[in-house]
Order: sequence, then C-alpha cells, then structure tokens
Amino acid sequence: MSIDYKYLSELLFPDVTMTEEELLAKYPPRNLPEGAKVTRFAPSPTGFVHFGGLFPTLVSERLAHQSGGVFYLRIEDTDSRREVEGAAGALVKTLAHYGIHFDEGVTVDGEAGDYGPYKQSERADIYHVFAKRLVAEGRAYPVFSTDAELEEIKTADKKAELKAVNWETDADSRREAMLARRNFTVEDVERELAAGHKFALFAIAEGDGTRKRKVNDLVRGDLLLPENDEDVVLLKSDGIPTYHFAHVVDDHLMGTTHVVRGEEWLPSLPKHLQLFSYMGWKPPKYIHISQIMRQDADGSKKKLSKRDMGANLDDYSRLGYSPRVVIEYVMTLLNSNFEEWRAQNPDRDYTEFPFNVKKMSSSGCLFDMKKLDDVAKNVISRMSAEDVYAQLCGWAEKFEPDFARRLSDKDYALQIISIGRGGKKPRKDYGTWVELYNYMSPFYDETFAVEDEYPENVSRADIKSALTSFADSYDENDDAGAWFEKIKSICAPLGYCADMKEYRANPDAYKGSVADVSMMIRVAVTGRLNSPDLYTVMHILGRERSISRIRDMINKL
Ligand code: GLU
Repeated sequence: MSIDYKYLSELLFPDVTMTEEELLAKYPPRNLPEGAKVTRFAPSPTGFVHFGGLFPTLVSERLAHQSGGVFYLRIEDTDSRREVEGAAGALVKTLAHYGIHFDEGVTVDGEAGDYGPYKQSERADIYHVFAKRLVAEGRAYPVFSTDAELEEIKTADKKAELKAVNWETDADSRREAMLARRNFTVEDVERELAAGHKFALFAIAEGDGTRKRKVNDLVRGDLLLPENDEDVVLLKSDGIPTYHFAHVVDDHLMGTTHVVRGEEWLPSLPKHLQLFSYMGWKPPKYIHISQIMRQDADGSKKKLSKRDMGANLDDYSRLGYSPRVVIEYVMTLLNSNFEEWRAQNPDRDYTEFPFNVKKMSSSGCLFDMKKLDDVAKNVISRMSAEDVYAQLCGWAEKFEPDFARRLSDKDYALQIISIGRGGKKPRKDYGTWVELYNYMSPFYDETFAVEDEYPENVSRADIKSALTSFADSYDENDDAGAWFEKIKSICAPLGYCADMKEYRANPDAYKGSVADVSMMIRVAVTGRLNSPDLYTVMHILGRERSISRIRDMINKL
C-alpha cells in the first residue's frame, strides 16, 4: 500500500515551518583559507573527564590550529539521564587548565561563534527540519512505543554491530521485527497521534549486511565494513536526536572537515555514511582513536578503565602534574617522531611541532606511568623558576595550604627552585609538585626532619668530631672551592682520605673518603643522604639555620 510521505511528514512534524533552504542559509560555508581544517571536541557532559579524552581533543585542536582553521566545542547533551549538572562548565575549565582553547562553541563566558547553538539540547528544531525531510522522502518512519522498548532495540542493534557475523539466528528475528516496524499505514499514525502517543523516528537502512563497503579512516587507511542494514533511530520519543543523527546534522551545518573520535564509533560509521548520503551531504574525514591501554604486571594489556590510576584527569591535578607535562606526554604518545623533535628543540612550544596524522599509530597507545614521570622531569627541568613557582603555588593553595603560606616568601622559594636550573644540562630532581614539595621540605623548619639514618658502619664519634670541626670552621663567605677545602682538611685527622682518586686506589688504607665526610654534614643539614649541591643548600638555608642543625645533630649523637 502506498503512503503519501509528504502528508505523513506534515502529520508528524506540524510545528516545523522552516524550510531546509532557510535553515541552510544560516550556516553558510565557512570562509577559511585553502586547507584549513574545522574540528571539534564533542563531549557528553557526564562529569568525568577521562585522560583518554585528551587524545581526540588534542588531535582535533592541532589539526585545526595548525592549518589556520577552527576548533570548536559542542556539548552533546542528548542523553539527559547521563548528564550531570554543571559538568559542561567544569569541563571547559578543565580543558582551559590544559591550555586547550576553543575558537567557538561553549566557552567559559557562554557561547561564541555563528554556527550554534553549540549545545545539542538547544537544537531540537534544527534536527526536526531534516527529520521531516527524510520522512517526506520516504526514508524515515515513526515507531510508537515506549522509550524502554526503544532502548532494547538500540542495545540489540549495538550488540548486532559488534557481533553481526555470529548472530545469524538472532539477526533473522531482529530483521523480522525491523521489517514489521516499517509496516504501518497513515491511519495507524493518525490514530496514535490522536491518542497523544509519542513516536521515535527511524531511518530505513538500504544496505546489504552481507556486502562490505570500503570506508576510509585517515589513520587506519581503507577498511572494509559491512553495509548498514539496521534501521537507525534518528529521534527518540522526546524529539531529541540520537548521536547518529546529531552527528550528521551538526557536523554538516557547523562545517566540520575532520571528525576525530573514539574507536567505539567505528562500527557505526556505515550508518553515518548512509545518513550523509540520504541528506546529500559530503561526509567529513574520519580518524578513530584507539582506546588507551595499560599494561599489567604480568605483561597483559587492558583498557585504561575509569577506576585506574591516571584515568581521571583530576588525578593529575591532585598528584601535581603540570598540565603541560600531561600534554607533552600525550604528544609523545600521539606522534612517533615527537620525542625526536623535542630532543632537537628542547625550548620550543609543543604547538610548533609539525603534527602529522600519518605519524599516528592505529593501535592503542600504552599508558605508562614511568614514561609519564620521565617526561615530567624533563618538562619541569626546562621551565623557568618563576613559572615553576607560579604553578607550585597554584597546586599548594589547593592541596597543601600550610606550604602555600610558606611559599609567600617568594625570594626564598625561588632560590630553592633555581638550584640546577638553566644551562644545557638542567637537573631533573622532580616531575610533580608533590615531588617538589618533598624536595623543598628540608628548606623549611616546619617540614625539616632527619629522615635518613647514618650508615651503621660509620662511627658516631667520627661523625661528631667531623661535624664539630666543620661547624667551627664554617664561614659563609667562603666560595665553593674554599668551602670544600675545609671539608677536605677535616678528613686526614679522622683517618678519611681527602682525595677520591687516591682513595679508590687504596681504599683499605682509610676509614672512608671525603664523600663520607660530606655525607655526615649533608644528613645533619638536610636530614637526607641525598640532596642537591650542599654548598648551595647551606647558602640558601643561611648560616644560622645550617649550623644550628649541625649542633642539634651533635647533641643527638
Ligand atoms: N559525544 C560523543 C562521545 O562522547 C562524541 C563522539 C564524537 O566526537 O563524534 O563519544
């Protein structure tokens, strides 16, 4: 029986008065230079920002900004059950903390840009214009049932996408159900609408699931995926679109040239391409990013799941990773030649790196805390002391308020942070603000503690007399050379060798070396067996503090 689709479309969407042409006129092609890319970050505001989310975000940002294009933020809040109040605002702030800025979309100060609204929940009217057109063309049809039933259909579809081949029998019954849904009369629709029932809208699938079609992913290359033979839900019964429909409509209207998204969307790509073709629009180019993996102690690889350390971006703030460290780390994982470039360009901003999609790996990146820590130490070692100080203060205010108060003596803090900074081979003592806090503890009386013990084999009497001689002869006006000569002169009377070369040649002739004597002083002054250059440390601490710590130690021994 033939259906008057035009009539059906009026019946289903009586409120849609705008024509497609009128609507499209509001979204003219963007006026951008040749080759400029338009990309977006399109999160669902669930309140959880996964570390893995930085990967598509950074790729999108680089592609756009490197080419003089546009990078925008679209909030995909079509699933109200998953939405968390205030999550969108928090997300924008988090990304800004990572130095990721949007040219358009939802920003910290509201919306910016001419291609909005950028919140899907505010775009219902727009989707309906196109939905109506698909109905009028006989490509979409209504299904009157509850959302719970639709949810079931959708989950079955999702599973089917993943397991299409092995689900023959089930696929048959699903197919039957699908064909039954397509079978209706205009009178049925009129009756349902008159009864006040709501409908979901499905797009008819025209593909043949047994045939494969070539699709392209910029990183994975050409792939063969089964044609889409599952009717796609376009609108849910509240009139809100599904991801599939919203993706096609929004990315077309907003002029997206490259869609970078998680690989979980790859199986849906045939659906999306089909919808683009129904609409008569050119699809964007796609990059599907693999899940981030982590390696277990036994060597097996698993997805970095929500509960894993490092999965939540908030973890990084708490642990005191500079956002720049995190970004640098993501860059090393994203482009295989980034580290090489960094070695040659230690002082350049990562945005100067020529990011290249071809250097991306198509298999999942491996999350490695150790590697992150290496990157962290490198990045922090190249920062200016002022920069480190400012970031450290930000962290301390949030997580260590007492320390933040101590940091208000900026000159003092800067002296500590400046140790071994600058020059060709800067020191790499710390990679996080937690580590720096720990590194700085000996410099403040409130946190100074003798954490390390003197080794058992060193005589307490020797330590006492070495400390006494040192304290008696200490002159803070000595330069490093004179200072060290004094330590050397303590050695011989105690039976320690002042010359390292000689000591190595004949170790049995001595109780120890000048290194051991230095260690005795170091533990007294810093409370630790390891510290940065002791001469510098003592200068920062000042005579009074250094010598009183040495005297305290003498009394304790
Ligand atoms: N809202 C989708 C998600 O969070 C976006 C995917 C896309 O970028 O198209 O997975």
